[in-house]
Amino acid sequence: MNLHEYQAKQLFRRYRIPVPAGLVATTPESAQAACAELGGRRWVVKAQIHAGGRGKAGGVILADADEQVASAARCLLGSRLVTHQSGPEGLPVGCLLVEQPTAIARELYLSLLVDRASEQLLFMASASGGMEIEAVAAATPDKILLTRVHPATGLQPFHARRLGFGLGLEGTQTKALAALMDGLYRLATECDASQVEINPLVVTETGDLIALDAKINLDDNALYRHPDLESLRDPTQEDARESEAKVHELNYISLDGNIGCMVNGAGLAMATMDLVKLHGGAPANFLDVGGGATAERVAEAFKLILSDPKVTAVLVNIFGGIVRCDLIAEGIMRAVREVDVAVPVVVRLEGTNAPQGLRMLADSDLSVVTASNLSEAADKVVTAAGRAARTGLREGAQ
Ligand code: GDP
Ligand code: MN
Repeated sequence: MNLHEYQAKQLFRRYRIPVPAGLVATTPESAQAACAELGGRRWVVKAQIHAGGRGKAGGVILADADEQVASAARCLLGSRLVTHQSGPEGLPVGCLLVEQPTAIARELYLSLLVDRASEQLLFMASASGGMEIEAVAAATPDKILLTRVHPATGLQPFHARRLGFGLGLEGTQTKALAALMDGLYRLATECDASQVEINPLVVTETGDLIALDAKINLDDNALYRHPDLESLRDPTQEDARESEAKVHELNYISLDGNIGCMVNGAGLAMATMDLVKLHGGAPANFLDVGGGATAERVAEAFKLILSDPKVTAVLVNIFGGIVRCDLIAEGIMRAVREVDVAVPVVVRLEGTNAPQGLRMLADSDLSVVTASNLSEAADKVVTAAGRAARTGLREGAQ
């Protein structure tokens, strides 16, 4: 789960990571009022969305008067901001962060993330901050400094000295960096963050370090330990179908293709997507309905898949171990009764009560294509999806 910049900066304050003074505003009036409360004569207005690249996209505006802050707010609030990270549709701007401006001498990059290969937390730093770190890493990999923290020893003074030296910081700045890294490390471990990124980490004209931007990604699997953090979720920034799936405890991830997949078990779901690809198709989603799927959940899952306008065919691939195939068939039939299914559906049921499930589908008036093995199912659904797309069975199909 991603946090907004203003939420991340609130967490930064808790861990004594320096950030500019700022206030959140959701109306032009409150944005203008924030100027008086913050004081000064210049302000920065920052659109709060779950994507970077706002600076280049017009989502970070420097204002010389409080009326300018109000007009920037009128322009940004309620709009969708498109950045190179947001996808072509952009993300809705529901709130703003109004900050005191920072006088920038240098823009650095600093992040802390889980390095799965070494099973350690990894600090990544660069003197080339403020820009896309991916581009820096691709063009000039030697400009990326790395230092890993062993969980048995924790953060040590040498970590900060190594990065401080590499970034060309002075002695007192390296001390400030050490304190900042300590805050980042405690934040990441205590809040179960999988990534914390400061880009840019600024050296001010007076030589201080300050986090000008803040990105935090929290580990979804650990959120149950942090109800206070979970309450920071902003569903407007998340894929609507993925949010809906969470409500029904379905494991759903949107993808770019046109073949909707409903599978039980994450491993089987991965294998199913592989086979769809192998047969020349492209999955529209990853969906694991879980081992103990009920007819209701299958129905919800099916509706979820069909709500995606890209979908031109559906593949149901169930291996009934704990779950019974007749219940799956019941769920499919229930969903089909509730929503209008205009696309071909290919079903492969195997395992507990598979013959009953298949008979139920055959006896129903549904036009379901059955398959006796996974390869055949993938082949049939790819053919059906292609045919459906060609005949324009579904509007907006591709
Ligand atoms: P991002 O583009 O979404 O990553 O948004 P950032 O918060 O990183 O801001 C983008 C850029 O705006 C920064 O790299 C800075 O160059 C500039 N910027 C942001 N805040 C300030 C500020 O207080 N003062 C100045 N001079 N520039 C700022
Ligand atoms: Mn940034």
